[in-house]
Formats: sequence, structure tokens, C-alpha cells
Amino acid sequence: MSINVEPLRKILELEHKKGYVDSAVIGGLDRFLRNWAGQAIESTTNPQLLNRFHKLQLVNSSYASLTKQQRKQWVNSVLDFLAEAEPKEGEKGEAKLPEAGIKLPPVVSRPSPPAKGQGIDSPITVIRGISSSLATKFNKLGVKTVRDLLYFFPRRHLDYSQRKSISQLSEGEEQTIIANVWQAQVASLGGRRSTEAIVGDETGNVRVVWFNQPYLAKKLVTNTKIVLSGRVSLFSGRHVFESPEWELVEDKELIHTGRLVPLYPLTQGLRPRQVRKLMKQVIDQWAWQVEDFLPYQVKRHCNLLELPQAISQAHYPEDEAVKAQARVRLAFDELFLLQLGVLSRKRHWQEGQPGSPFSAETLVLDAFIKSLPFELTIAQHKVLKELLADLEKPRPMSRLLQGEVGSGKTVVATAALLMAAANGYQGAFMAPTEILAEQHFTTISYLLSRVSHQQGEDYLHIYSGILPHPLTVALLIGDINQVRKRELQQRISDGDIDIVIGTHALIQKGVEFRRLGLAVVDEQHRFGVTQRSALRQKGFSPHLLVMTATPIPRTLALTLYGDLDLSVIDQLPPGRQVVKTRWLKPGQRDSAYAFIRRQVANRRQAFIICPLVEESEAIQARAAVAEYERLSQEVFSDLRLGLLHGRMPAVEKDRVMRRFRAGELDILVATPVVEVGIDVPNATVMMVESADRFGLSQLHQFRGRVGRGQEQSYCMLLAQNPSEVARARLDIIEKIQDGFELAEEDLRLRGPGEFFGTRQSGLPDLRMAKLSDIALLELARSEAIKLFQIDPSLDKPEHRPLAKELARVWPQAGEWS
Ligand code: ADP
Ligand code: MG
Repeated sequence: MSINVEPLRKILELEHKKGYVDSAVIGGLDRFLRNWAGQAIESTTNPQLLNRFHKLQLVNSSYASLTKQQRKQWVNSVLDFLAEAEPKEGEKGEAKLPEAGIKLPPVVSRPSPPAKGQGIDSPITVIRGISSSLATKFNKLGVKTVRDLLYFFPRRHLDYSQRKSISQLSEGEEQTIIANVWQAQVASLGGRRSTEAIVGDETGNVRVVWFNQPYLAKKLVTNTKIVLSGRVSLFSGRHVFESPEWELVEDKELIHTGRLVPLYPLTQGLRPRQVRKLMKQVIDQWAWQVEDFLPYQVKRHCNLLELPQAISQAHYPEDEAVKAQARVRLAFDELFLLQLGVLSRKRHWQEGQPGSPFSAETLVLDAFIKSLPFELTIAQHKVLKELLADLEKPRPMSRLLQGEVGSGKTVVATAALLMAAANGYQGAFMAPTEILAEQHFTTISYLLSRVSHQQGEDYLHIYSGILPHPLTVALLIGDINQVRKRELQQRISDGDIDIVIGTHALIQKGVEFRRLGLAVVDEQHRFGVTQRSALRQKGFSPHLLVMTATPIPRTLALTLYGDLDLSVIDQLPPGRQVVKTRWLKPGQRDSAYAFIRRQVANRRQAFIICPLVEESEAIQARAAVAEYERLSQEVFSDLRLGLLHGRMPAVEKDRVMRRFRAGELDILVATPVVEVGIDVPNATVMMVESADRFGLSQLHQFRGRVGRGQEQSYCMLLAQNPSEVARARLDIIEKIQDGFELAEEDLRLRGPGEFFGTRQSGLPDLRMAKLSDIALLELARSEAIKLFQIDPSLDKPEHRPLAKELARVWPQAGEWS
């Protein structure tokens, strides 16, 4: 292994340029040198070189303490040395070693290097001071390896950097003093054994109390110097520090006081001081071993900190400005890797296998469009054109279709499926739940059957007059009987069935297509990105259409779903009404029930979404049953109620849905699992219990279940005891109807990474990046695209660390490693 002397050389040159004022590197040269030397000496195999490095070190002294003249001498001697040593490292180092200008005592004081075989991916128990019981506590926080610990960032920092003298102290603010302990003793304060001390500096004295911490009295020996950080209050007209953070003034960096002090997320049994101390040690020792995987050009062009520096500054920042820079670097990494990931995936999808170019079957398509019970909207026409253009290409389509709830995505997808069938390919339509699969089967069969059809026993044969052979559409879900299922699977693999509708089980279990040409995935955010690659593993590169009603701002969509091209249906079919939305107080429940009763009297139907129960689907189901019984017996005993929850057998669910759709039920009581996609135009009331516990986009989904017909519809939101944030959400959903606007609000209200539950969707976690940070998103995206154009498979030697990192954060991909 060779030493990378480049960073050292660069920094020393900069220091030289800046006139030896110790400003070349944040945190000062000393820290950098310590860490760099530690790393360099670890990695070299050339003993002579090693020896020279030792001699050049500023041992047990510091650059900071040298005079300008001494600094100059030292910097130049090291630069000379590097210039000679660098090209020949690894050979018989002939470089002459100039004597370091300043004589300093020997003995290297640098962080002790890890033992052989230990790296930042070793378990945290390799860290001195981390016992297995402490490790267990960290594991609970998701921290297993040294790397996890380095990326275990504080929730925030306390600003203890405002140093004051005692005479300058004022109440209320976070302030820091350095003072002498005059005396400290155990005292009883408010009946609690506590510590009370008097400390002073050249401007005066101040009283300090620590409630409940009598043991401190012994540690604060008279005449020691300590740093105190915290708030000052007024007690009997005099200043007093109340339970401040403290530490002794020693020859080391401050950890708990006098600076920006990190506050870590804690778990039971982890104490703040303990974690801070440990983190400091870990960062000093290990941060410099993190390989900076970003190509130099990217770093320079985007003006980003080095990775080790960013990591250490994110924990123990010099000041707010550097902390912000650190965050930018770390957030950039996340977004950049995300971009590279999705770009690689797209390339892989499109280049993996040749796709199936369809030819435009205009006759068939025209017949279909003419047969529809409505006119397509302009937006639907536009999107259909985009799809058809893709479908005619030899590269497999990879497209995200976004469209507000009720905008009519299904019919567009159906047209695409018809194109596949007309070209002799099979099409698969995948829904997130069986209920939805059934509903789509009904809808799609209906839409297709308006041209000409024969109803077979189990199948629907359509387009018998127009296509060479009649189309066959089938529903395949988990709960049908085994004999029928096996028969269906057989017919799918024989190529006998043209369009098959089901859940994602379609692409997972035992289903072999004969010639799959198009896969449609409804409601992507429920689906998980990984399932897409399941298709390819079956040996297909079908055209892929992913549909979602979650409105995603464009930049975001490009980032999160950058592997997909984007189409948007940005228009609702004519005649849709605004759904009147009201947030009701618990006391208004009875009048809400009365309202439902009046709607039912007018032949309308209503949904009631059960209170949200966190735990398991089983418990949710039980709660739903209870609510259903209560409503049937106590509230609506004279009306026809149905119950729908995830634990019911599919036949049962199907029966209930059919009855509701057919108007045989007045009210459908359902768990939140059924929020997506259900289409019953006669339903005009959506009542949501515990509405305060749903996110904006979910509430919007619920609301989208009504207002699908011509009638005025209503959404009633009940909230028991909403928090402040929940109240803000309820206010917003009352006022805003537009899904995109809601999505923006949602982004604003929620924290980073939460918006899409990136973990769920198979995307890497975002910790530092805020999805609302559009500028950084765009920067990361454009840099990723640039890099991707030069070296799409990251084969160049300078991109190898990046390829490695990408494979690490996207383990499920495995496609570019
Ligand atoms: P989503 O985009 O939420 O999946 P759907 O495809 O379920 O929406 O369509 C919602 C409703 O609108 C359905 O009842 C569908 O038949 C109807 N629809 C779709 N397109 C039109 C249109 N152009 N004009 C009128 N109604 C339409
Ligand atoms: Mg839909």
C-alpha cells in the first residue's frame, strides 16, 4: 500500500501561500497532522520512509505554538521532503531527508492505530472502552460497526461557544466561563442532596449548583480550573449557574463545554457525557480512516469538504459555518449515491436484455378509445402518446405515471396492455392488495369488453372480431382454489392468457410467462423497488409502467425515481367536485353520524375508516370488528353495514366489495389498509377516525375515495387529541385540495427521509439530506449524470472507491458491483 501524500502536500502549500497563520485547514494543522500521520504510517510498507516521517513529525509540540519563522522552516522542509519522496515511494527511497528545522522531543503522540484486521467495518467492540454490554446498548440504536458509530450523528448541538467572563454573565442565554473552583460541597437543595460550589475568575465570583449530584463535590477540588457551560438564572438577586455542563481545563480539547456540544440520541443506559467522550475518541481515532470515495473533481467542483473532515465536523464542529459545510457534504453523498444508484438501475434495465418493440396497432387502439363510456381528457391523451412512443422502441420502457387520485390512470394503462396483447405479447397488471386486484380486473375487463366480447366460463374473451385471436383476461390472486390456480398458471406459461391481473405475487411465486411484454405496477410506493428486478430475474425485460397517485414534486421524482421517465396526468376528468373537508371535534361525532344517515337516506354510501391501531394487522382486524359491531348495534342498527379488513379471506373481501359497489351496503367500515384505489362513484362520505395520526398524503388518499361521481362529496376527519403538528396537518387538508400542493406541505412538515419512508421503498436511508433542499438535489443529480456519462459502470481506477461505496449502500442492487 502506498501513502497518499497529496492531501498533506496540498495543505502545506496552502499554508505557505497564506503566510503560515495556521489557516490552511479547519481545526488547525496540528489536528490534521496527527491524524494524517497516524494514517500514513499505518499504510506504508517502506520502513525507511516510515523512519523519515517519524523524524519530521512535530512531536509533543504543536505547529500552533511555533513562531512564524519556525513554521516557515518546518513547512518548507516537509514540502521538500515530499517532493523528493513522493514519486519514488515503494522503491528504494533515495530521497534525502532534510533535517527538520526545529528540534523537538521524540515520542509520537498520535491516536493509536487499530490492530491488524480491524477496519471501520469491524464491530464496535474493537474500540477501546466499548464492552459487549455497552455494544448491546448501541446496537439498540442501530449502531453495530465502527462506521455506524462514525455516522451516528448528533440530533443537534448546544451552542456553548459563547465564552464570557463572570462579570459579563446574563440570564437566560447559553454561556461559558472558565473559572477557578474556590470551594465545592454537598448541600441539601430543596430536600435533594446536591452539589454547591463557588467559582471565580478575575472579574468576580458566581455560585453554581448541581441538583441531585452530590458526588460532584468531591471531583471539584479547590483551586482546579474548570469550564462551565449552561444557563444562568437569578436567585435572590444574584446570578447562579444551574446544573451546567462542566469539565476540567486540561491539555486536551473540550468535549462537553465551551464549544458546539453534540447531543446524541440516547437509549436506556447510555449517558450523555459518556457518549460524548466516547464519540470524541472514536472520531479522533477512526474518522481519518474513512475512505473518501468522492472523485476529486466532484469535490472540487461542488466545493465540498473532505469526508473525514465532514464526519468529524458533523460531530464536533469548530463553528456553525463548518457544521453547515459538513452537513452539505454528507447530504450530498446521500443524494449523489442515490442518483448514481437509480441511473445504474435504469441503464441496467434498458441494456440488460433487448426489449420488445410493439408496433402501433392503430385500428385496435382506435376501436378501444371509441368504445369508452367517456372522452379521454387531454392529459390522458398526452400521456398515452408518451407511452406508445416508448412501447415502439426496442429499449424497454421504464416510466412512472403520476396522476392525482381519480385522474384516470387505469384506462391509460389498459390501452397499453391492449397494445401488448395486439402485438402478441402478454401483459401483467399488479396491484398492491388483492381487493384492488379484483377491482382492477372488473374495471379492465369492463373497459375492454365494450368492443365485442364473449363471456367464457372463467375468462373473458374479447376483441374476437378485431384481433386474430380473441383476448383473454384473467385474475390471479393468492386465495383462489388450488386446481384453478394451477390451471391458470399453466395457461399463463402456455401463453394462452393475454392480460393477467393480480398482486405482486404474480411476479414472485410459480408464475412463468411465455412472453411477457408489459408489466404495469399500480401504486408504486406500496410496492418496493426490489420487485422490479424480480421480473428481470425471470428472464424478461418487459416494458415497465409504474403508476402512483402520490404527488411528488418533479425534482424529487427525478431523484427518487430517477430510473424512471416521468409522465403526469395533471387534469381530472370533467365534472369532478371539490370534496368538502371538515375536521371535527370529538363532540361532533354524533352529528357526523346524523349526517351520514341523511346521505344514506338520499341513496348515497359512506366509508368509515376505523381508528388506527398501531401493532399488528391481527390487532387492527380485531379493532375493526369491534368498531363494526358497535356501529351496527348502537349507531346504525337500521342500516346495512359491511366490514373490510386485511385479515379477511379474499372471497369474503370480494363479496363485501361487490355488495358495496352494487349498492347493497350503505356503509363500509374498513381498516386503513384499504385506502388506495377503491372506486365506488356512489360513495359520497368518507369519515376517518383518529385522523390526527395519518400523514397528509394518506388523508388525501382517503379523501380520494369519494367525489368520484357527480354528487357533492364530504370528508369528515375526527381527531381525539391532536398534537400541534397534527393540528397543522388537519388545517392544511381542510384548506388544500390539490395533491401536489399537499405534497409540498407534507415535505415541509415532515423531517428528512420520512416523506417516502425511503427504507420501505428499497431506497437507501437519507439522514442528512432534506428532500426539501432542492438546490442540493439538483447539484447531486447533475454531478451524477455528468459522471455517469464519462464512466457509467464506474470502472476507471479513480472511481473504484465510489463503485465500492455504491455497492455498500445499495446492497440489493448487486448489479454494478
Ligand atoms: P386513478 O387515476 O385514481 O387510478 P381511475 O383510473 O380509478 O383513477 O379513474 C377514476 C374514475 O374516473 C373511474 O371511475 C374512471 O372510470 C373515471 N374516468 C377515467 N377517465 C375518465 C374520463 N376521461 N372522463 C370521465 N371519467 C373518467
Ligand atoms: Mg388507481
